[in-house]
Amino acid sequence: MEKDIATPNKTKSILEKYGFSFKKSLGQNFLIDTNVLKRIVQAADLNESSGVIEIGPGIGALTEQLAKVSNKVIAFEIDQRLIPILKDTLSNYHHVKVIHSDVLKANLSETVKEEFDSEQDISIVANLPYYVTTPILMKLLEEKLPIRTIVVMIQKEVAERIAAKPNSKDYGSLSIAAQYYAHAETVFTVPKTVFVPQPNVDSAILRLTIRNEPPVQVSNEQFFFEIVRASFAQRRKTILNNLTHHFEDKMSKGDIEQILNDVEIEPRRRGESLSMDEFAILAEKLYHY
Ligand code: SAM
Repeated sequence: MEKDIATPNKTKSILEKYGFSFKKSLGQNFLIDTNVLKRIVQAADLNESSGVIEIGPGIGALTEQLAKVSNKVIAFEIDQRLIPILKDTLSNYHHVKVIHSDVLKANLSETVKEEFDSEQDISIVANLPYYVTTPILMKLLEEKLPIRTIVVMIQKEVAERIAAKPNSKDYGSLSIAAQYYAHAETVFTVPKTVFVPQPNVDSAILRLTIRNEPPVQVSNEQFFFEIVRASFAQRRKTILNNLTHHFEDKMSKGDIEQILNDVEIEPRRRGESLSMDEFAILAEKLYHY
């Protein structure tokens, strides 16, 4: 039986065969630990009828493990040099399709429609390039794709920020943006040593389980997120001061204080103490002002 791609020796020989040199600018840190890969795949809870979208297959280490347990894998890879390599390393897996594209520019709704059955269980699983983690995750969430879950390896600090609860140092607008669309949890952390080349930061597996309905009802999502971002603009400032600064000449400090009192949010609290429910009630009141 062929060895897995994600062993140090097999990876080395593939890289040597093609004279491949890593591009730091593309966040190329490849996984060389099959156990970690299997745990990532397990966290996505796939079965033989599952469809999977992968972002950044590299030389196919994770793709291979996904292909072994699912019905179809569609992988987006930006680096042209990896396309012939993937054709070779994944030649045994006919249900894998590699698309040469920047995932940020891809029409993912279209891909889902074309590549998967309408009732199919679909997940996104990836070891994400760290330089674009947040834009990629926000694109995946905001496009409201018909997917069940997103399981990604990302920088540990970012995973903690995304999964953070109120009154913690990590809680901020990114936590709320992600948790509006999904239930977020850190599944496990990973040391630097399982990558080649080794990154400078530790990593974690984040699982986002997509919600059927947002946890709060708001009239205007854009406005809701604008209020959340404004409330965290300067973390040390009170919510009153942050919002006063945000609305500048549109609303007076007194008006904002009145609104905060009306919705029973003490104006001297900081953004990091507000729950998503409180942000929603506050945004509704401001929106209809
Ligand atoms: N999946 C492989 C693994 O686990 O070993 C490689 C992961 S590596 C952290 C990130 C991969 O994403 C690289 O192959 C890189 O070329 C690719 N990549 C970077 N930016 C991308 C983008 N905008 N769209 C698609 N792929 C991208």
